[in-house]
Amino acid sequence: KANGRGRWSFFDPAMEEYVQTRDNIARELRRAIDNDALAVAYQPQLSSKTGKITAVETLVRWTHPERGPISPANFVPIAEETGLINDLGLWVLRRACRDAHLWPDVMISVNISPTQFRHPRFIDQLIETLASYDLPPSRLEIEVTESVFAGKDAAVLNVMKRLRELGVKIALDDFGSGYSSLSYLRRFPFDILKIDRDFILPAGDSAQAQAILRTIIDLGEALDMTVVAEGIETAEQMDFLTSIGCERLQGYFISRPGPAEEVAPMIVSGAIDSRVKMSTGRLRA
Ligand code: C2E
Ligand code: MG
Ligand code: MG
Ligand code: MG
Repeated sequence: KANGRGRWSFFDPAMEEYVQTRDNIARELRRAIDNDALAVAYQPQLSSKTGKITAVETLVRWTHPERGPISPANFVPIAEETGLINDLGLWVLRRACRDAHLWPDVMISVNISPTQFRHPRFIDQLIETLASYDLPPSRLEIEVTESVFAGKDAAVLNVMKRLRELGVKIALDDFGSGYSSLSYLRRFPFDILKIDRDFILPAGDSAQAQAILRTIIDLGEALDMTVVAEGIETAEQMDFLTSIGCERLQGYFISRPGPAEEVAPMIVSGAIDSRVKMSTGRLRA
């Protein structure tokens, strides 16, 4: 009887509820994947050198029939936990390649979760997808976070090498938000460095944040990587990043993520919001 409490803790109602909700969501997500009921949004990245859109990031979207829109920050981890992530990721990759093959020049980036990246069929599925939509591998970028490593360095390095051989670019996402990104940069061949939003947020007015950003951009230059700033929300942030030579700019200030129909005309015409143009114009002058 004295051990009763300890025993019951195995049936923690909060945990039970979580598992139940998670499993329900996973079942509905499975159905959404099978029925093509997911969507993607594309967020443009602006070149600070040319003032034109040079890349777009693909972001998955899911509107649940009863719960409404659910953030990928919430359902992607569920897909990881419940074995759906490979099918989810493949669905997004296919959709991105299908759309991108109609757009001129721009790079298309796709977020790939750790499990999908290390899946034995990942590279084959990628090659098949590129071929079936006739998209050159050189148009594709894969974004991973440092959580991809998780003690599996050899496997990750192997996948990276194969991507390299294909001509697919590899980005390290959310750089600076983890624990040991610097050691990964030394050991793994990343082409692109995406600075975490936490550093961009105070870029308009914090001397410390500005010093860190300068250092990251120097590092990127020294290691021959393209540096991308994401989460740019103000003209001040954008002006500062442009002035220190950050090559690509991404964030709500430049453009919110949008459906293909909205983003395609921007890509084709290179047209972006006039206040953004003014900002880049001033800095490039
Ligand atoms: P991420 O890859 O770091 O994507 C950037 C996130 O920041 C996106 O959120 C984007 O909408 C948001 N964002 C962009 N500009 C701004 C800004 O100026 N201000 C603010 N506050 N946010 C901005 P989203 O679409 O909700 O995605 C969240 C995360 O979910 C992504 O972070 C990524 O880790 C994951 N994710 C999204 N789509 C996919 C996918 O297709 N596959 C995988 N594996 N993960 C995905
Ligand atoms: Mg990303
Ligand atoms: Mg990111
Ligand atoms: Mg993130």
